[in-house]
Amino acid sequence: MTNSLFSPEYLDARGRYRAFMDEHVYPNEAAIGREDAAALALVEELRGRAREARLWAPHVPPEAGGTGLGFLYYACLNEEIGRSTYAQLVFGCQAPDAGNAEILHLFGTDEQKEGFLRPLVAGEVRSFFSMTEPEVAGSDPTLLRTRAVREGDEWVIDGHKWFSSGADGAAFAVVFAISDPDAEPHRRGTMILVPADAPGVEVVRAVPVMGHVGRGWSTHCEVRYTGVRVPVANTLGAEGDAFRIAQKRLGPGRIHHVMRWLGQMQRAFELMCRYANEREAFGGPLAGKQTVQNWVADSAAEIQACRLLTMDAARKIDEGSEARVEVSLLKSYAARVLCDVIDRAIQVHGARGLTDETPLAVMSLMARGARIYDGPDEVHRMVVARRILRSFSDGAGWTFS
Ligand SMILES: Cc1cc2nc3c(=O)[nH]c(=O)nc-3n(C[C@H](O)[C@H](O)[C@H](O)COP(=O)(O)OP(=O)(O)OC[C@H]3O[C@@H](n4cnc5c(N)ncnc54)[C@H](O)[C@@H]3O)c2cc1C
Repeated sequence: MTNSLFSPEYLDARGRYRAFMDEHVYPNEAAIGREDAAALALVEELRGRAREARLWAPHVPPEAGGTGLGFLYYACLNEEIGRSTYAQLVFGCQAPDAGNAEILHLFGTDEQKEGFLRPLVAGEVRSFFSMTEPEVAGSDPTLLRTRAVREGDEWVIDGHKWFSSGADGAAFAVVFAISDPDAEPHRRGTMILVPADAPGVEVVRAVPVMGHVGRGWSTHCEVRYTGVRVPVANTLGAEGDAFRIAQKRLGPGRIHHVMRWLGQMQRAFELMCRYANEREAFGGPLAGKQTVQNWVADSAAEIQACRLLTMDAARKIDEGSEARVEVSLLKSYAARVLCDVIDRAIQVHGARGLTDETPLAVMSLMARGARIYDGPDEVHRMVVARRILRSFSDGAGWTFS
């Protein structure tokens, strides 16, 4: 079957990921999902195979240690990689390391690239991104309270974070801290690289999320920083740049998420269609029932809309645009489509959809957070609407491009 959205070269690369997934990832999903010591060893073994097959770190370019060729290329691959919850880990492009690698690549000094980026992209260590705090609304980062105070050549950091994904067992954090509370709101924060073994860093607990505690990469942790001292040389970008860097990180990070979701949506859709054709009730297959047909048609339309929105945003980012409206529009729309398509697929499977006989239950568990992390739906819709309405009030109107 042809695929008009991508070049033959990109589709060829995608074919190599598909072959690897068929041989090594899908057959091992259940074992990896157990999250025990054997699962960790298995992931390491598969990572070695992915490196040998030159499929490692497709999210960053070769000069940063990866095999990437830009956003459109990565979007193409992710329709494959995203199908399995665990494949991003196997190919070394898992969140939040992927986003952290991007900002280290963009803003890191030579020393930071050698000390933090190189081992991160090589898969020797993991990292976490520590921004959200339990006491204040994460949607509005001007409310953040974690403080970084300069004492000579050091930052002294005190604060309380949670939902620091992957903090369990990670080597370092990218911490968003308020360094100048008197500056204008978007110049108050500084991004600081903090080794996880620095005295005063305490991973308090992995916060259970919808009943799932996780292990290592799959945790979402509460973290306390008490009098943590790191050299000022660990400042990522300039002092006061945290909002700008967070924006740089979250823009691409959001579209990375959506790319993976495209794979999840398509897998759920295929499972729904196959089962609808197989399962019989009330004199014929489920595929003959109008409600199921509506779910199939609506899902097909919504998935293709998400694909087209993703390609549009990826192309614009590759051309140098921040694509703020496109990314926000896509992130909030695709998160809802993801949840809806998986939910319809579960419903078609009846009780089986809730078991581990299909990947749908795990996919559903992971999908719900999509409507909240990296900005809740409501905030993204606010961003889109504000920008469009401002453009109208400025007299320019809005041109779909
Ligand atoms: C699975 C998962 C992983 C995460 N990983 C990380 C991580 O690695 N690092 C990190 O720092 N954070 C992480 N987060 C945190 C995430 O980024 C925040 O949850 C998010 O920014 C929202 O902040 P909040 O939870 O404090 O909700 P709040 O900001 O308190 O918002 C609560 C609700 O208020 C509503 N709301 C807020 N603003 C508006 C508005 N303007 N208009 C209308 N309604 C509004 C929305 O419905 C929103 O859901 C993760 C979250 C999840 C669920």
